[in-house]
Amino acid sequence: MSSETALSIENLSKHYSNETVLRDISLDVETGEFCVVMGPSGSGKSTLLQSIAGLIEYEGTIRINGTPVETVPVEERDLGYVFQEFEDALFPHKTVFENVAFGLHQQDADYTQSEIDERIDEVLELLAISHTRDDLPTELSGGQQQRVELARQLVRECDIVLLDDPLADLDYKLQKRMELEVRQIQEEMNSTFVYVTHNQDQALKLADKLVILNQGRIEQIGHPEEVYYEPASAFVGQFVGDSNGFIGNATHGGDDTVAVETEIGEMSARVQGDDIDPNQRSITIVRPEDVGFGDAAVGLDNVYEATFVDWTYMGRETEYAFEIEGLDYAIRSIKDGTPTIGNETIGESISIGWDKADTLCFSTLSSASTATVETLMEV
Ligand code: ADP
Repeated sequence: MSSETALSIENLSKHYSNETVLRDISLDVETGEFCVVMGPSGSGKSTLLQSIAGLIEYEGTIRINGTPVETVPVEERDLGYVFQEFEDALFPHKTVFENVAFGLHQQDADYTQSEIDERIDEVLELLAISHTRDDLPTELSGGQQQRVELARQLVRECDIVLLDDPLADLDYKLQKRMELEVRQIQEEMNSTFVYVTHNQDQALKLADKLVILNQGRIEQIGHPEEVYYEPASAFVGQFVGDSNGFIGNATHGGDDTVAVETEIGEMSARVQGDDIDPNQRSITIVRPEDVGFGDAAVGLDNVYEATFVDWTYMGRETEYAFEIEGLDYAIRSIKDGTPTIGNETIGESISIGWDKADTLCFSTLSSASTATVETLMEV
């Protein structure tokens, strides 16, 4: 823990009757950092936020700016908490201004009326809702209501703001716009954010530090690029971003490369994690953007004969699907731009391939002990 550490969690565990919901979580979040916690539904994300907020009991230690929070009464902890269900959080009969002012009154600070006015107007402007100042929440759109809730938390300038999937209920376009704004506001205010989401795009886009949670355990902590390109386990490789996965036994290789005997034949791969045991059954993945086909497959390390079966134009990119004998699902390739092959080529055979450097064979399946090669292929 450094002097810049805003939040330090040490060996946090939480049990509900006979279920262990969080196991041995240790995590540091630096001051001004945007920390995103991502994991499947039920992995313990909300429970982690509730523990930090002091809403539930737990085992372990949580420090805020070096002070163990267990010694500070909940109402004196300087934390903001933004929930997904923002409609219930706002007072329906108070105006936007009054709702935000309530956030300030919750604090035990002596502000003069002009200070209150000034701070609220500043934060309303930052969130682009100054014009709704005298409106009631019911007169606002969902996006505006969520901004009011954000304003209410931000105006308090808390040490740490906890956000539980705050944009999940907004429609797609508004979500995209709000993502950018949330990030800008966090930077401008230099706040420390702990932001929970199950939305991958959002997590990769927003995070300075990304925490991947699975069955109550941390699978990996890292910068989004690190988590995407160097996943620590097969679970992370499968869960974060798209991937084509293969099951196979690592047969032989050097320290960091192996030959894997997969359903579609031998594949050269990079070892991800510790050494891999000879004949260890594992998962090997390649990202769709790293799969070449036709002329682009010539000379790659792993080349296979496949059948082109489908294509989908997605606006900025096109997704292509290929089938190979021995594999019961299609291998996907994603390339920028409009389709280069289409319906006239469907059913024809074509070479597909990818480089060893882009092929990851995992020595660790998951930090969850129950994970098997088969269950991870479903992630
Ligand atoms: P997430 O936010 O990742 O979806 P949660 O933290 O909400 O996950 O839940 C993690 C696990 O803890 C789930 O299996 C859930 O059923 C269980 N859980 C959460 N709250 C309670 C509670 N109050 N009592 C019993 N079990 C709970």
